[in-house]
Parts: sequence; structure tokens; C-alpha cells
Amino acid sequence: MICENLAVIRSQIAQAAERCGRNPDKIKLVAVSKRMPARAVEEAHLCGQLIFGENYLQDALKKVRQLDKSLQWHFIGHLQSNKAGQAAELFEVIETVDRLKIAEALDKHAGKLGKTLDILIQVNVGGEPQKSGIHPDKAEKLLEQIRPCSHLKIRGLMTMPPYGRDPEASRPWFRTLKQLSVQLAERELFDSNDSVQLSMGMSGDFTVAIEEGSTLVRVGTAIFGPRPK
Ligand SMILES: *Cc1c(COP(=O)(O)O)cnc(C)c1O
Repeated sequence: MICENLAVIRSQIAQAAERCGRNPDKIKLVAVSKRMPARAVEEAHLCGQLIFGENYLQDALKKVRQLDKSLQWHFIGHLQSNKAGQAAELFEVIETVDRLKIAEALDKHAGKLGKTLDILIQVNVGGEPQKSGIHPDKAEKLLEQIRPCSHLKIRGLMTMPPYGRDPEASRPWFRTLKQLSVQLAERELFDSNDSVQLSMGMSGDFTVAIEEGSTLVRVGTAIFGPRPK
């Protein structure tokens, strides 16, 4: 089933890209394998999937250590600074940096590991109090503060918009993130200001996200089915 689901999603990504005149190769699929067993990840890998997203460090640990080294792991959950060392070791990209303290902790550990870590800044586009992410108004300052971290590369922005039943409800929020990225790129606050990454769109709304400029879609349920509790 996982292979069939992946094929459907890849073709939906390609179609959405074509509809709005974008190159489908510029859109990466992050298969969100949180709470899924290692064998589900292996099955997806056999069907050509290389990038996986995890929310929980403990849960990811076994999978990352045990599975094929060619897999690339993105951390997409809330990160505590005391776990930054492990996160810096296990993950290629940390998508959820939303405060200076966590950036500095990741920078320190990446330095120790002799690696540079790609990061995205998580933006709380809806300003929802219960959600992680920096408020859009404070993003510029945060990027300025993080830029001196020499072992981090600020690749772009990530968001989880307020929940809506209809995928169209996400569109204005995706647009907000895109506009913010353009403003920040004009101020040259990213590592590559001409190819800023935007991680937005999940199972329910990834085609809308692609129409609004997403370069990384994070899809779980539509690939792996409902997650075990
Ligand atoms: C769980 C999760 C996803 C995937 O959600 P689905 O609706 O299962 O596709 C994407 N992004 C984040 C941050 C998540 O926590």
C-alpha cells in the first residue's frame, strides 16, 4: 500500500507543480514516519523514498541508527535544548528552529560533530498561543541573531497553519509564509537568498501549498495510513 500511496502523491505533486508552472523537481517530498515502525520506512525506501520526517527524538533514534545510511532525516517536532546534541547528530535538517537558544545549542553541537546543519525557521503564521514557532513580526530579528552561528545554514522557513477542515483555508497562511520569505530574502538573511526553502503542506493541503510556493511538503497519513496511538 505504501508504494501505491507514494506513487499517487508523487503524481499529485507533479500535477500541482504543472498547474502553476513550477518545476516539479524543485519540490521535495518529506515522508513523515512519526510513530510508524521501521519496516514502514524500509518499505517506502524500497519505493524510492529517501527523505523522512520525525517529530519525536526517542522514536526517531532507533530508526535512524538501524536503517540504511543513505536515508535523510528531517526533524519536524518541538526541540528542547537539552536534546540538541542528539538532534544535531541524527538529522540532516532541523525544520523547527524557533528561538535563539535552540539555534545556539544546535550550532555548538554541530561544531563538535564537525558538521554544518541545515535549519529552517518555524514560523507561527497564525500567532496561535499553543503552537511553537516564532511570530512573523519577530522572524527578522531571530534570523539576524542566528546568522553568526557558523555551523548552521538557514535554508528557509517552515510552518503549520491553523487547522482548517478545507485545504483552501490554509492558502492565505501559506501565502503569508511565502511573502515573509521574500522580505527576509531581500534583506539577505538566508544562506542562499535565491533559493529559499519553504516547508509547508501536509496530507490534507500539500497541493495548495505547492501552488503557493512550497518546496518541501511533509506528508504522513496519506503515505503510511493512520498513525498508531
Ligand atoms: C504529523 C506532521 C505532519 C504530517 O501530517 P499528516 O497530516 O499525517 O500528513 C507534517 N508536519 C508536521 C510538523 C507534523 O507533526
